[in-house]
Amino acid sequence: MGDVRTADLAESLARVEERIVAACAASGRDRDDVHLVVVTKFFPLDDVRRLIGLGVTDVGENKAQEAAAKLAGLDDDERDALTVHFVGQLQINKARQVASWADVVHTVDRSRLVTALDRGAEQAGRHLDVLLQVDLDDRVDLADAPRSGRPRASGSRGGAPADGIPALADEVGRAAHLHLRGVMAVAPLSRSADDAGPSSTAAVAFAELARLADQVRSAHPRATMVSAGMSGDLEQAIAHGATHLRVGSAILGPRPAPR
Ligand SMILES: *Cc1c(COP(=O)(O)O)cnc(C)c1O
Repeated sequence: MGDVRTADLAESLARVEERIVAACAASGRDRDDVHLVVVTKFFPLDDVRRLIGLGVTDVGENKAQEAAAKLAGLDDDERDALTVHFVGQLQINKARQVASWADVVHTVDRSRLVTALDRGAEQAGRHLDVLLQVDLDDRVDLADAPRSGRPRASGSRGGAPADGIPALADEVGRAAHLHLRGVMAVAPLSRSADDAGPSSTAAVAFAELARLADQVRSAHPRATMVSAGMSGDLEQAIAHGATHLRVGSAILGPRPAPR
């Protein structure tokens, strides 16, 4: 599609690519070790098509229904060219559906979800890569408390507490149709506008995620993925070892209001 929207997407993709290259250089990392997942939630199928045309190989969705409808609109070649990541909060009753089309589920945070996804993958005759989502709000608030004493942010973004991650990893390891591939986190909401640098909320959270990623990898050597970093904090995520960035608005623009 050689339209204006395609040109805009090409330009914003190039800007994000520059940020990734610069952040990799700043932390001595190889650009090829950092993968870009473009989060296309709320944006139409045509944008997914445009992104494929621009060479994007990985897209992320966060609503089961919306994602399934979008994917159904792709032809086989387009679908085969994509790795589809589910990055949203997952309800048990949607797990079977998601297991039938997702390639990677980033948000596994409880036992019942492990069981439900494993069963769903089995019924669909496929295997699923999964990441364990960690809730880092507690840790960051502890680190932050002496300075700010601010209340805990709501844990509505999901995730298992850090101390529950090793046991959950072992459970996924035992599931016949799931492959444990690593860990994921969303940085806690920043509480001040100039929250940047090595002691920022995001940096503290991503450092903790890196520690947990090492711990999981020592028991599960194939769990090498670290999904962290969004439009606003991808530099800090790269500095702390992220392998998969989940970037939406910096590429697609502001999201349309949810209906
Ligand atoms: C929407 C979303 C993103 C992308 O966020 P942007 O700030 O638009 O880059 C990343 N991760 C998750 C889990 C999301 O839901």
